[in-house]
Amino acid sequence: MDALRAHLAPRWMELGPAPERGDWRHWRLGRDGDNLAWLLLDCEGAAVNTLDEAVLGELDEVLAHLERRPPRAVVLRSAKESGFCAGADIGLLSRLDDPLLARELVERGHAVLDRLDAFSIPTIAVVHGPCLGGGLELALACNWRLAVEGASFGFPEVLLGLHPGLGGTFRALRVMAPLTALELMLRGRPLAAPAARARGLVDAVLAERHVAAAVAAAAAGRLPRRRRPRSAELFSREIARTLAARRLTAATARRVRPDHYPAPFALIELWRRHGGDERALRGAEIQSFLELLGTPTARNLLRVFALREGLARPAKAAAHDIAHVHVVGAGTMGADIAAWLALQGFSVSIADRDPERLAAAVPRAAALCHRRRLEPRAARAVLDRLIPDFEGAGVGRADLVIEAVPEDAELKRALYAELAPRLAPGALVATNTSSIPLEALRDALPDPGCFLGLHFFNPVARMELVEVVCHDGVAESARARALALVAAIGRLPVAVKSSPGFLVNRVLTPYLLEAMLLLEEGLPAASVDRAALDFGMPVGPVELADRVGLDVCLAVADRLHAAFGDAVPPVPEWLRRKVERGETGRKAGRGLYRWRGERPEKARAPDPPPGTADRLLLPLLNAAVACLREGVVADEATLDGAVIFGTGFAPFRGGPLHYARSRGVAEVVAALEALARAHGPRFAPDPGWIALHED
Ligand code: NAD
Repeated sequence: MDALRAHLAPRWMELGPAPERGDWRHWRLGRDGDNLAWLLLDCEGAAVNTLDEAVLGELDEVLAHLERRPPRAVVLRSAKESGFCAGADIGLLSRLDDPLLARELVERGHAVLDRLDAFSIPTIAVVHGPCLGGGLELALACNWRLAVEGASFGFPEVLLGLHPGLGGTFRALRVMAPLTALELMLRGRPLAAPAARARGLVDAVLAERHVAAAVAAAAAGRLPRRRRPRSAELFSREIARTLAARRLTAATARRVRPDHYPAPFALIELWRRHGGDERALRGAEIQSFLELLGTPTARNLLRVFALREGLARPAKAAAHDIAHVHVVGAGTMGADIAAWLALQGFSVSIADRDPERLAAAVPRAAALCHRRRLEPRAARAVLDRLIPDFEGAGVGRADLVIEAVPEDAELKRALYAELAPRLAPGALVATNTSSIPLEALRDALPDPGCFLGLHFFNPVARMELVEVVCHDGVAESARARALALVAAIGRLPVAVKSSPGFLVNRVLTPYLLEAMLLLEEGLPAASVDRAALDFGMPVGPVELADRVGLDVCLAVADRLHAAFGDAVPPVPEWLRRKVERGETGRKAGRGLYRWRGERPEKARAPDPPPGTADRLLLPLLNAAVACLREGVVADEATLDGAVIFGTGFAPFRGGPLHYARSRGVAEVVAALEALARAHGPRFAPDPGWIALHED
């Protein structure tokens, strides 16, 4: 009965007849009057389908059952509304650190998909929602792929330091032009259904209501067959592949380095050597996948995946009960926060004492919609949700008020006093301050328990992390609502204790200031940046300081100095003068670099001297350890995740503390001590290293 009820639940999906057998945990099998077998993937106890040992093991049993009593065709689809299949179970991949066990599992998985692939009757994958990684490999083992409108297809393995490992390489090459298939695997970006159709990955794109008819047509062989891509013939020759691989390698090397991210290079080489021979490619894919799985890059990127889940998942599951948000301050941050909230479906009013600033908020939101390529109707809906509020009428109906006025405690307190009598009962008030301790602001409000920080970073649409800043009087319910809201708008929330610089600015500032000191010593800016890029940072500290704004960096540095004294590198006088002259970085067209629009003009620079990366990065690590010791964040994993998503800290290194542990805590401490002897007490190891060392 339960199985029947579960089967009937998502009524909008064509799921075939009621299941004939119910003794599998993750699969359901039914046969309709035309002898079509409907095989439904419905992973037990999960909102999203993923592939693991149990799911593939059961699939093997189902296939054996079907071989004994063959139907006319098999329809394979997901019974979950969330989509077809998100890929391999990442938890399982993370645990696969025994090479023999890993090989056994991967080979067993291959054997199951090969068995499906070998069916002589038509096998039809019907795909709705995301069909990613192992999910796509499963769909590729079927003869037909029918995409329901809205489906998406991709190989995100490269983002985890891997490439497809369940036959995806050679099966994608069967149906797509080789360079197109490689592009899909190298970039990790999914294709929407129409693009997947245009590239040969799916046979048809259709509305859900046409699924039954399309399945019947495919089963009867009435759907038009794909033609083998013409370039497949050309690239069956090794010489053609070698030439193309050279170009692909060069293009990939412009984006990532092989010593940091070996997977895309391994994939190109795999194809170059074996792209003309499916059997050889199958064996080599397994071998190469297993080698990659053992690399520190893949292990660390799998860890980063888990860190992201750790930040997002608990908050996503919680309720926030926030419908209307009122934003005060329509400047750089306020206007972007309001636009982002409206884009995410919230009703937003925005106020500013400067009517011109306020009037510019809607065009800013329109520009965001344009950048996100929203359909005109969807864009109009976003703009309809964003209300410029000249009278301040939105305050009274707001469940959340976000303050984003300039970084001045007195100004903020005066504003709160003005807002207080108009706030709705139970409304949250959040400040976007980047450096003022909340203790200096909270008593300006009648209920400090409902006051906290929501520290968005600039640019709001690109920076994933949002610090949810809590002082010791914040109500637990307010904290939980704020975390849930941040998750609901597609950002990663991290709860941090109110203390100078919170987490991200606290760890980033010593790194940026150390870069200034290296400039003062005469090292060219591009060389300083090179040292950080060689370590794996996405941008160097000099360029980053210019992007953030030297005025902003200076203000944060002064606050951190006042709080932590010698532990923070000194601010060079020339930097202050530069800011006074208005040379504040990218926004001014001139800062530490000269800027041409979005790009700094960088001269070719000599190699940085050995040890430069340590001088830059170890202060960041030291500040991270101090934050952990002081309880600014709850634990090591949260800290690593927040620093990666908030600063871009080289993800393939698994986070600052994970990096320190991999390198050896004692070695890092010794390196800090040596730097302290050479350059001064700012490098003195934080006492928190002792606890880390003892773990
Ligand atoms: P901004 O100067 O660009 O904008 C502030 C806006 O507030 C202006 O439009 C101003 O007219 C308005 N304003 C001033 N007083 C007001 C009042 N009493 N009532 C209504 N409107 C008022 O500032 P910003 O860069 O957007 O910074 C806002 C806050 O966000 C600051 O606390 C800052 O520290 C923080 N922050 C800034 C960045 C950044 O990169 N700019 C990043 C993170 C956090």
